[in-house]
Amino acid sequence: MNEKPLPASSPLTRLVHAGKQPAFEGGQPVNPPVVRASTVLFDSTAQQHAMRARRSEERLFTYGARGNPTNFALEDLVSELEGAYRTRLFPTGLAAIAMTLLSYLKPGDHVLMSDSVYEPARKLVDSFLAPYNIRCTFFAADGSDVEEKIEAGTRMIYAECPGSLVYEMCDLPQLARLARARGLLLVADNTWGSGCQYRPLALGADVSIMAATKYLSGHSDVMMGTVATTKQAWQPLAERSDAFGMTVSPDDAYLVLRGARSLAARLAMHEGNALQVAQWLQTRSEVATVFCPALPSHPGHALWQRDCTGTNGLISFELNKDFDKAAAERLIDGLALFGIGASWGGYESLVTLANMRRARSVADWSGRGQVIRLHIGLEDPADLMRDLQQGFAALAA
Ligand SMILES: *Cc1c(COP(=O)(O)O)cnc(C)c1O
Repeated sequence: MNEKPLPASSPLTRLVHAGKQPAFEGGQPVNPPVVRASTVLFDSTAQQHAMRARRSEERLFTYGARGNPTNFALEDLVSELEGAYRTRLFPTGLAAIAMTLLSYLKPGDHVLMSDSVYEPARKLVDSFLAPYNIRCTFFAADGSDVEEKIEAGTRMIYAECPGSLVYEMCDLPQLARLARARGLLLVADNTWGSGCQYRPLALGADVSIMAATKYLSGHSDVMMGTVATTKQAWQPLAERSDAFGMTVSPDDAYLVLRGARSLAARLAMHEGNALQVAQWLQTRSEVATVFCPALPSHPGHALWQRDCTGTNGLISFELNKDFDKAAAERLIDGLALFGIGASWGGYESLVTLANMRRARSVADWSGRGQVIRLHIGLEDPADLMRDLQQGFAALAA
C-alpha cells in the first residue's frame, strides 16, 4: 500500500487517516474477511489505469460494484460446486434469473422455458420479455416436446430440473445434445440441486442458476442468487452484470459462505428426514400422490437415479379430491412445528399450499386434488410426523 510519508497534521486529519492498516503479527483466520468497500485505492495512476484496462476480462478488485474479496471467495466456492468457469452473484435468485435472460436474449429472440419453472419466472416472461419482443414458449416439464417447439428465432432452452413444487425430471443431457446441434444456449435453474445433488453443467448445460437463499445459505436469513457458466458462455453475463451494476453485500456473501460449509451435512439430514416423512405420507388414506423424485413411484425416478446423487428436504403431496382448498388450509393451520411460509432450504420445516393450476400452463392440473408442499427441516422426523398427524385430524373436522 501507500508508503508515502504524511505531512505533519492536525487531529482532524489524523482522525481520517489513522487506524486504517493495523500492523500485527499472528496467524490467519479460518474464514475470508468481510471486505466492505465502495472505493478501492491504487498506489499510482499507472496502477489505476492498468487495472481498469484489464478488469473486463479478469477478476480484479477495482470498485465495490464489481465485487470484492469476500464475494470473490463465494464465487470460487460456487464455481467449485457447479463445475463452472466462473460465477457471478446477484441480490436474489430471481435477480439471477432476470440477469441471465437479459444477458443472452435480445428483441426478436425466442426462448423455450420449462413448464416446471419457479413461478415468478413466468411473471418475468409476461412483464419483461414480452414487451421487449422476446417471445417465450413453455415446453412439457419432461422435455418431450422441445424439439418440435424450436423455431428459427429460438436462442435459449431454459430448464428447471427437478421442477418446482412437484419435481418433474427432464433428460438434461438429451436437451444439451439438442441445444448443441442447433447452436442454442442451455440454461438450468439448479436451486433444487444446490450444486450437490444435481450438477447441470456436468450434464451439458451452459449456464446454471441457483437461489443461494435456499440450501447454500441454509439459515433463512439472507437473500442471494448465483449464476455459474462455462468459459464459452461467460462473457455476456459478466458484461451485462457490470453494465447493470449488479453486486451483493460482502456481509451477505459471508453469510452464504458460512452456511455453505455445512451444505453437504445438512442435505444428508434433510434427505433422510424427508424420505421418512414421504414414505409415511404414502401410507395415509387422505393422500392421493406423494411427490419426491427419490420415490420409485415418481415419474422421473429413473432419471433422478441416473442424474442426481440424492434428494433434499422438499416433498409435496396431493390430497384426495374430496378435500377442498378450505380443508387443505385446515390441515396447514393445524400444524405446530411447520412454519407457514414460502421459500425453503433453511434448517426449519415449512409448509405452503401450492397452486398447480397457476404454476403450470402445459400440464393440465384441472380436476386434481389440493397440493401441499413441505420443506422437511432438521427436526426429529418422528415429531414432524406426529405434527402432520394432528394436521390430518384437522382435515377431517
Ligand atoms: C426460490 C427460488 C428462486 C428465487 O430465489 P429468491 O432468492 O427467493 O429470489 C429461483 N428458483 C427456484 C427454483 C427457487 O426455488
